Amino acid sequence: AKASGKARYEVFNREMHTRALTRLKLENDLRRAIDRQEFIVYYQPIICLSTGQISSLEALVRWKHPQQGLVRPDHFIPVAEATGLIIPLGLWVLEKSCNQLKFWQQQAIQRGEIFDITISVNLSVKQFSQPGLIEQIDRVLESLELDSKNLKLEITESAIMDNPDLASEIFQQLKARKIQLSLDDFGTGYSSLSYLHRFPLDILKIDRSFISNLDSMEKNLEVVQAILNLAHHLGMSVVAEGIETQEQLSLLRLLGCELGQGYLFAQPLDPQATETLFLSHPQW
Ligand code: C2E
Ligand code: CA
Ligand code: CA
Ligand code: CA
Repeated sequence: AKASGKARYEVFNREMHTRALTRLKLENDLRRAIDRQEFIVYYQPIICLSTGQISSLEALVRWKHPQQGLVRPDHFIPVAEATGLIIPLGLWVLEKSCNQLKFWQQQAIQRGEIFDITISVNLSVKQFSQPGLIEQIDRVLESLELDSKNLKLEITESAIMDNPDLASEIFQQLKARKIQLSLDDFGTGYSSLSYLHRFPLDILKIDRSFISNLDSMEKNLEVVQAILNLAHHLGMSVVAEGIETQEQLSLLRLLGCELGQGYLFAQPLDPQATETLFLSHPQW
């Protein structure tokens, strides 16, 4: 039977109410979690495809939820963004991962080795447009006596396009510090290639969606080839995200893609497992 208008309205209303409550609870939980530092940074290696060795480690945050266990970022980053909680959380991730890098560098020195792996930290749109960003980064690097060329920052197209003038200004300051810049999730946003040359980007990360359907099918290959040509023309290196198969890896090597990331190499790992991985000196 057809529900009356009133009944439908009530159902709709109740659903909205439930959703608002869920969201409010998530926001409250998140606020408390930040106070209690209920987070952990995982690391996923980015591989140099010509040497087959680890080039960088991308810091990817997880929430150690007291009831729900390990929560993936897709579940809480959007709420953290919308509420501004991403600013303290993002700073925590930056501090934590820089601390971890310093620790691994010191460990390597004790082994008589050099730790030449960089760390890649994601910056949200909100963080990017926040006035104190450069000062915060300076403070973290200085307090750890960490060389800024070991840090890479990953930003998305929307962070740039929301305010291109501000982006230019921040980029200049980051470049002056020799911090490297990666354009994340390329191909999912505006995909306007024409603006790219205006920004001093070092690395372009091709979104996973382009890689997962990469097979010998000519059309997909052509798209990735075109992105590679463009990036190389602009002096950027390219990371292929989401490499899961040996075939994808072989094709990307043939196409001249410099860097790769994906489950074929490793999933994001906790600090201990990350350490075990790089100490085994893997070569793909
Ligand atoms: P992202 O920056 O694009 O990070 C890559 C995501 O792809 C990670 O998901 C990673 O686990 C996943 N991935 C890597 N290789 C593969 C693969 O071969 N196959 C598949 N299916 N997935 C793969 P994760 O860790 O769940 O993070 C999701 C997103 O959350 C990130 O996407 C990023 O946008 C955001 N995020 C994570 N940590 C932070 C953070 O500290 N700050 C900010 N602002 N955002 C973060
Ligand atoms: Ca990223
Ligand atoms: Ca990405
Ligand atoms: Ca993403």
